[in-house]
Amino acid sequence: MDFRLSQEQQMIVDTTRQFTERELMPHEEKVERDGHVTPDLISQIKKRSIEAGIYACNMPSELGGGGLDSFDTTLVDRELGATSYALHYIVARPSNILRACRDQQIKEFLLPTITGERVECLAMSEPDAGSDVRGMKCTATRDGDDYVINGTKHFISHADLADYVILFAASGEEQTSKGVKKKITGFLVDFDSPGCERVKGYNCVSNNGYHNMILNFDNCRVPTRNILGEEHKGFDAANEWLGATRLQVAAVCVGRARRALKLSVEWAATREQFGQQIGKFQGISFKLADMQIRLDAAELLTLRAAFNDARGNFSDTEMAIAKVFSSEMCQFVTDEAIQIFGGMGLMDELPLERMWRDTRVDRIWDGTSEIQRHIISRALLRPHGG
Ligand SMILES: Cc1cc2nc3c(=O)[nH]c(=O)nc-3n(C[C@H](O)[C@H](O)[C@H](O)COP(=O)(O)OP(=O)(O)OC[C@H]3O[C@@H](n4cnc5c(N)ncnc54)[C@H](O)[C@@H]3O)c2cc1C
Repeated sequence: MDFRLSQEQQMIVDTTRQFTERELMPHEEKVERDGHVTPDLISQIKKRSIEAGIYACNMPSELGGGGLDSFDTTLVDRELGATSYALHYIVARPSNILRACRDQQIKEFLLPTITGERVECLAMSEPDAGSDVRGMKCTATRDGDDYVINGTKHFISHADLADYVILFAASGEEQTSKGVKKKITGFLVDFDSPGCERVKGYNCVSNNGYHNMILNFDNCRVPTRNILGEEHKGFDAANEWLGATRLQVAAVCVGRARRALKLSVEWAATREQFGQQIGKFQGISFKLADMQIRLDAAELLTLRAAFNDARGNFSDTEMAIAKVFSSEMCQFVTDEAIQIFGGMGLMDELPLERMWRDTRVDRIWDGTSEIQRHIISRALLRPHGG
């Protein structure tokens, strides 16, 4: 595997890094303090990221997207990862699952999402069904040319700013070797549909300014033409397309940890105690070395998964390895960074305590570390009848 960047890829990295430093980082403190990004700032970031060519960079160029493959998109995510996610996510990377849009869905949902006129969110999780997706209780019952949706979704990220939701609901049941499991169908549901309600979600310790919401569906009618992909095949579609979100988490963790390590090295080289730089104490210098070792390993695992995916060799296991290792690496690196800064590391004058809090969710969302380990071990054991 050759991870050397072409001239064009280096340009993508440089453009995104400059954009992150100039257009996003200066707003971090205010967003953290206010707990939200103002509508004006959202519009400005959207406009400037479209101008910079990084908005919807993962979407096909023939549809107006950036046309970047998995590897190049990962490079973009890694650079954006250095800043707060509340700012980063505005530089939208529409869910890859929208590529399953067909017929009028392309005009109604996909194209305006690529141009930034509409924003999507994705709803899978429920109060009683998180990791156990196929145990979901939100139902979709066929009635003529409609499906009628009933149930509740929670933890739905940026639903407050979205226009529609990619909703997964139970459209039936089937007998499997592991007992009865729900058949799942994906739907595109406008938030102004009657019977669809958005309620304020929970306050989260990670990613201040990036909100989650609760969605209630009460006899909400969705036309069958809004089925995303095939009826009853939503679980397969999610597995096929959502690997990319795990890769995104991994890339963001690498970007965030890079910044934490850079700050730590600068501090260790300038802060003096007992008449010398603290970086001269082995207790500190070995921390820096361990941070670099894990960061490099995480980056290589992330690039491997992206590299193979970009060449049509999607590997669930490689994505899971990248996510679990990078998210745990970032927790370690941001924690050690705080230790190296001493008391100041915990103060909000510096971005470190935010990065430490922000990265906590990366071991939970988009599939917990335990579920990633389940994916990895299952691939090891299956050939042996496990
Ligand atoms: C801030 C935030 C934003 C989110 N955004 C979205 C979103 O936009 N859309 C969406 O659909 N969801 C979203 N989620 C939900 C997220 O994907 C779930 O939280 C996650 O999948 C875990 O589900 P759970 O929280 O219900 O935990 P549970 O599934 O109840 O798990 C609890 C614990 O049990 C462990 N566990 C469960 N099953 C197993 C098993 N088989 N083997 C070993 N251990 C197991 C888990 O690893 C975990 O440690 C978000 C979550 C958060 C916190």
